[in-house]
Amino acid sequence: MSTYQSRDELTDEQRATLERAALQVIGAREEAAAMIRAEMEPPPDMGWFGSPCHAKLPFPPYPPCGCRDYRGDGGPCTSPILVPDLGEGSLFPTRPCGHRPSQHVET
Ligand SMILES: [Zn+2]
Ligand SMILES: [Zn+2]
Repeated sequence: MSTYQSRDELTDEQRATLERAALQVIGAREEAAAMIRAEMEPPPDMGWFGSPCHAKLPFPPYPPCGCRDYRGDGGPCTSPILVPDLGEGSLFPTRPCGHRPSQHVET
């Protein structure tokens, strides 16, 4: 594609393709990590394990989501994250990340 398209301008079909592609990247990372762990403890400076979420939470000061690895089947991520205490509605210290696979593939 020659011109940059923001996520908001994508069609539903393009979005679905994006999520499928992202899920494949995440799956490939998991497989690669499993391959290495089968033989050794991965060196701690190898930061390409896991697919942390790069979304920011939708309230000031917009902290990073904090989810460390995507879990799910292509839909919203089910990994529990710790949310800052927001007062109302924050009785539970964790909630699902809820972000899409495409938000977990940036490095
Ligand atoms: Zn997540
Ligand atoms: Zn997230």
